[in-house]
Amino acid sequence: MTADNLTLVEHPLIQHKLTILRNKATPTAVFRQVFREIAFVLGCEATRDLELGEIEIDTPLERGTFPILEGKKVCFVSILRAGNGFLDGLLELVPSARVGHIGIQRDEATLEPKPYYFKTPDRLGERQVILLDPMLATGGTAIEAARELKKAGARRIKFLCLVAAPEGVAAFSEAHPDIPIIAAALDRQLNDIGYILPGLGDAGDRIYGTKG
Ligand code: URA
Repeated sequence: MTADNLTLVEHPLIQHKLTILRNKATPTAVFRQVFREIAFVLGCEATRDLELGEIEIDTPLERGTFPILEGKKVCFVSILRAGNGFLDGLLELVPSARVGHIGIQRDEATLEPKPYYFKTPDRLGERQVILLDPMLATGGTAIEAARELKKAGARRIKFLCLVAAPEGVAAFSEAHPDIPIIAAALDRQLNDIGYILPGLGDAGDRIYGTKG
């Protein structure tokens, strides 16, 4: 981990795939496929400390005791809509995982981020919860989503993104110093409308082809 609870996953495959996602010439279908692949590899890092127990089994040659996942199923929580881009790859990696969704929008009066949708599996407090949003920009949405998860009982939370901005990492770490952030890259800065530079553009638009 670097300062601010940030772990950068610098695996060459992740860096290569992230360059494909950054490239504005990458078509929507390729973007989705590569996002799925990168989510799978990042998911290995995000789940590296899942609890293990032991099981006694027979291999074709002898009986032995071997590791097996223990405890309540891990829970991926997607921040709508771009967080959904992570789900295919992560569920391929952990097919038995549970999934929650959080929708957050800006309150028109206060300009504060406010949840409009919140649906998560029960017994969040017993699960490893992995909160998903590809872009950690200002951090406002992720901070609010993590706050809602804590209110709902989550105690072990990680935040997984593709690209983080220094401003977002600082704000998120200050609000939630107990939540590790896992990212494929820490980019230079935000522009004046809150987009990450160099970034990859609007992640939701890139995943769903809603622009251009
Ligand atoms: N959200 C995005 O999708 N992209 C950014 O660069 C910042 C926020």
